[in-house]
Amino acid sequence: MHDKTLAELARSLDAGEFSSHELTQHLLGRIDRLDGELNSFITVTFDQALATADAADKTRAAGKAGPLTGLPLALKDIFCTRDVRTTAGSRMLDNFVSPYDATVVEKLATAGTVSLGKTNMDEFAMGSSNENSHYGPVKNPWDLAAVPGGSSGGSAAAVAAGLVPAAIGTDTGGSIRQPAAFCGITGLKPTYGRVSRYGMIAYASSLDQAGPMARTAEDCALLLSAMAGHDLRDSTCVARGVPDYTEELDTPLAGLKIGLPREYFGDGLDPQVETAVRDAIKVFESLGASVREVSLPHTHYAIPAYYVIAPAEASSNLSRFDGVRFGHRCDAPVDLIDLYKRSRAEGFGDEVKRRILIGTHTLSEGFFDAYYKKAQQVRRLIRQDFLDAFEEVDVLMGPASPTPAFDLGANKDPVSMYLQDIYTIAVNLAGIPGMSVPAGFAGRRPVGLQILGSHFTEARLLNVAHQFQQATDWHRQRPAFAEENA
Ligand code: GLN
Repeated sequence: MHDKTLAELARSLDAGEFSSHELTQHLLGRIDRLDGELNSFITVTFDQALATADAADKTRAAGKAGPLTGLPLALKDIFCTRDVRTTAGSRMLDNFVSPYDATVVEKLATAGTVSLGKTNMDEFAMGSSNENSHYGPVKNPWDLAAVPGGSSGGSAAAVAAGLVPAAIGTDTGGSIRQPAAFCGITGLKPTYGRVSRYGMIAYASSLDQAGPMARTAEDCALLLSAMAGHDLRDSTCVARGVPDYTEELDTPLAGLKIGLPREYFGDGLDPQVETAVRDAIKVFESLGASVREVSLPHTHYAIPAYYVIAPAEASSNLSRFDGVRFGHRCDAPVDLIDLYKRSRAEGFGDEVKRRILIGTHTLSEGFFDAYYKKAQQVRRLIRQDFLDAFEEVDVLMGPASPTPAFDLGANKDPVSMYLQDIYTIAVNLAGIPGMSVPAGFAGRRPVGLQILGSHFTEARLLNVAHQFQQATDWHRQRPAFAEENA
């Protein structure tokens, strides 16, 4: 059961091969046995999951099941949930229980999904390896010496290990696509504004976006159809109809124009990753697509611009954690300033503090024009690069990450960690959608192909990824960890 995709599970539930209760019980059993080693969950909601599964079984028996009824998934621990704590991977929120559900949580619940719990993540989604979590690092099921990627590393590892068929992540600079690549699963970051951010703990509000992580593009299409849509509670959420994202999956790719950004194949790209990506592109050619080189000339400025804008927004967003209103409060403060200082010093980890310091500096009087304003101007140029490229081609393809998953502890220097996001970050600055799709291996560690489209072309991206998955079986490979522990 733990091997199947959401679409396959839905068919099995329909055919009465097993109930949602049995499926949920089986997966909870796996989490119980295997997650001690992986650490992909922060909170597992055993009783609630079974109760939800029972309700879903009743809905099905009454003939009222939708495409996701009774299907298990997990939520990154950045989505607020009523009744279940939401930590954002931080000591600051270790005991935080939200009074409401995030819109995404509410929509997935309405669709009948069964949440098994909340997955591990880098603290406040800051990181590329899931080593910045207060709850400890997550291991990559393909190789327990490797990181799963971050910041949605728990979501990616849980799916790869067969603990859950799908999970929800968030992507501010690559946090869905890079862990999907590292763990050999499929992940989609939607267009900025496609999915509501209400109830998603904010890191960098102009970049954050929630999206699905699953085994296949088809499953991502099922989930996005349920997650997307206008929400009056998020003023940046776009009022635009939500298509059924599964409808275009079978469109043939003949005539598809693919662009390969020259800047995504340069220095620093691991040769095994490059080979896997170039082989994947040949598959698209055999499906009738044409390929040409394009240029995104400002790519080089994406990381510096992001590491001004994201920390600036983070420093503002994280000022609410002051020991008064939310989360951790220090013991016996002598006065208000002592309360603020010690609560924040104790509650936040090192990387979060580093970003608050950078962001506070770049927003301060005298530096704002030199840093923040300049970075916003660069952002505009980066966006224009993509718009120009999409005048020529339908989609862009390249690696999701310059290397396969690296060893735990290998990137201790923050700058070398920041460089991990070289191919993903510009996408968030431009607000366009992007996917990572399994496309081979470098040794034992998976490689992800990144596919990018212009704003609101999710249906096309999912179609392109689905056609690739009809022609290849990288997405069907399972790590020995999941097989041995069947
Ligand atoms: N690695 C990037 C960062 O640390 C992106 C993280 C994310 O997308 N949440 O900010």
